[in-house]
Amino acid sequence: MTPAATAASATPYPHLFQPLDLGFTTLRNRVLMGSMHTGLEDRARDFPKLAAYFAERAAGGAGLIVTGGFAPNVEGWLSPFGGKLSWPWEVARHRQVTAVVHGHGAKICMQLLHSGRYGFHPLVVAPSKLKAPISPFTPRALTARGVERQIRAFASAAARAREAGYDGVEVMGSEGYLINQFTAPRTNRRNDAWGGSAEKRMRFAVETVRRVREACGPDFILIYRLSLLDLVEDGNAWDEVVAQAKAVEAAGATIINSGIGWHEARVPTIATSVPRAAFAGITARLKPHVSLPLVAVNRINMPHVAEAILAGGQADMVSLARPLLADPEWPNKARAGRARAINTCIACNQACLDHIFVGKVASCLVNPRAGAETELNYLPTTYKKRIAVVGAGPAGLACATVAAQRGHAVTLFDAADAIGGQFNLARRIPGKEEFNETLRYFGERIAETGVELRLGTVATPAELAGFDEIVLATGIVPRRVDFPGADHPKVAGYIDVLTGRTVPGRRVAIIGAGGIGFDVAEFLVHEGVSPSLDGERWRAEWGVDFDGGSRGGLVPPRPEPPAREVWLLQRSPGRPGRRLGKTTGWIHRATLKAKGVKMLGGVEYLGVDDQGLHLRVDGAEQWLPVDTVVVCAGQEPRRDLQAALQAAGTTVPVHLIGGADVAAELDAKRAIDQGSRLAARL
Ligand code: FAD
Ligand code: NAP
Ligand code: SF4
Repeated sequence: MTPAATAASATPYPHLFQPLDLGFTTLRNRVLMGSMHTGLEDRARDFPKLAAYFAERAAGGAGLIVTGGFAPNVEGWLSPFGGKLSWPWEVARHRQVTAVVHGHGAKICMQLLHSGRYGFHPLVVAPSKLKAPISPFTPRALTARGVERQIRAFASAAARAREAGYDGVEVMGSEGYLINQFTAPRTNRRNDAWGGSAEKRMRFAVETVRRVREACGPDFILIYRLSLLDLVEDGNAWDEVVAQAKAVEAAGATIINSGIGWHEARVPTIATSVPRAAFAGITARLKPHVSLPLVAVNRINMPHVAEAILAGGQADMVSLARPLLADPEWPNKARAGRARAINTCIACNQACLDHIFVGKVASCLVNPRAGAETELNYLPTTYKKRIAVVGAGPAGLACATVAAQRGHAVTLFDAADAIGGQFNLARRIPGKEEFNETLRYFGERIAETGVELRLGTVATPAELAGFDEIVLATGIVPRRVDFPGADHPKVAGYIDVLTGRTVPGRRVAIIGAGGIGFDVAEFLVHEGVSPSLDGERWRAEWGVDFDGGSRGGLVPPRPEPPAREVWLLQRSPGRPGRRLGKTTGWIHRATLKAKGVKMLGGVEYLGVDDQGLHLRVDGAEQWLPVDTVVVCAGQEPRRDLQAALQAAGTTVPVHLIGGADVAAELDAKRAIDQGSRLAARL
């Protein structure tokens, strides 16, 4: 047995750690780190940071890494002066990345991504002059010479990638970018050699693969990212997808990676409410038609999920992008049978994709070191202190475990009988089941780092005597409302509703349409097992077709009837939910709309009585005949302990983090980041 094969047989996930022989090279396992833009690709000065980021993922055991997208020319830029590889002087910076990755025994491919009409700049080109709904720029339709110029650019960028030390390239043919724009009738209205029939529409893809192979030789990995489900109207039909797969295989592709959904699609594909491995079944459908290795993608965040896909023969590799942002050591931990120690990606998108959309460097809610490897380091302390952390919510958990990892003696108090703080409420929301994983992870970290955990203990100044530093992560108290009838029996707080202490009636009004108001609405309209845990029901809810009978993989959605009639209200004018996350807010709005939730802005609350909730909207009074009114009106910092410590004359440093520090616009991203950064300094 080779050493790699021995390692594969010693792990609980033998298929995942089986090497993959590509003929001219061998990958050490089946973990492909999927392409993900970090925001560090665009400027030469950021490449040392990009190299450090990839070095950790390579050291963590990934088999094959794919970089974020680099354009083959300026027309293909995602944004002005975005990452590109077309000139000779752009090669050297990439060598920093390829050298460190190879140093850790992994292989790396550069993704070649031509944005086509998705580019955010005036030079955009496309097969036809059709503006994308997600870009303000109308593309120029390519002439036949222009088409040829784009293909040449792909081939020459691939050759430069080889020069820079990459083991291969991934040609981005999915997600609605240029190549996909050529293949789909939605965006290709041409009637020349590059459009008109299905065969001509896919010619650009096939020709690009052929020319990249020609430019780079036979011993260079060529991954083609093929859109298996466009999830847009007038997308490709299944027989066209199969034909394209066969054609790119014949043209020289080494591996086909699955692509799911265009960026303009109105079906969620990677959000936390998408079931795990929701799309592996569509990759499996392609398997009998091709002989090259296939990669399954999207919502594969734990080793047993990956192993099941490989063991079941649905794919030959699995792609993990965000899960390796969350935990670079994911493959090593899995291989060693330490899956419970994995810091699992909860698919929230809050620090990765949401950052990218506002031009910030990608990071990770559960791992603030992602994208900050050169600046945020948890170095061993030279002076061991006794540290008390009060509150085992996300802020306190992060602070306690990082401080203990650094060598401090940490005691973590929580009044509750379980760790997690508000995450114990978040995890009860249908579609947020992944939040359980963060609590499991922190439970493991507490044990590993030796934090002394004191649950069921309300920390008081007397309890906190004798510590060198005190960290208050005591979270929040829900804001109270003060309109007439605020203490009526129909009125309940969100905590009582989510913990089951109050069982709401069939008609419910929610006061406050922030993140918690939306989540409570989801909680109220669902009953029984969440569709996020059942792929078939979830596909029916969103109208996703795996049977190949429809273009783009779309069929009419069949939402299940709501469990309750719900009104979601806010005082501010305008549409509720505008402040929700950039990449997930639309999903929450669409789900609630499909469940008939009535959302009202510009509401004045007049009071609650036996009749229900009385309101004024647009100057007109009305009442909602509801059984229950749930208050989700925001939160205030919880600082009673800080006041008590001051009164007791505490002299040691007292730090406030998370909601206890600032409750406004608090989320777990800020709580974990602040807790970790404080612990790195203590
Ligand atoms: P908390 O989580 O509130 O924890 C404070 C802890 O301190 C509690 O466990 C409490 O028992 C303890 N405590 C207080 N006083 C004492 C004392 N004297 N002694 C001992 N213990 C004490 N955020 C996101 O980023 N994304 C989401 O999708 C998301 N969804 C959410 C859904 C819901 C339904 C809710 C309620 C919240 C959600 N949040 C979400 C918000 C997120 O949970 C909070 O921002 C985060 O929990 C704040 O962390 P924290 O550590 O500051 O405080
Ligand atoms: P929030 O987002 O601040 O929303 C509070 C809501 O209450 C607003 O709609 C506000 O709107 C209303 N409100 C405020 N004061 C009120 C008053 N006195 N009377 C009546 N209504 C009032 O807070 P939240 O919903 O409690 O969420 C807390 C934090 O958790 C948020 O910062 C959020 O980021 C985080 N969270 C995030 C997610 C996520 O998916 N990312 C999910 C849940 C929670 P009006 O003032 O217009 O009425
Ligand atoms: Fe996953 Fe959320 Fe981290 Fe992104 S921010 S990698 S979605 S846990």
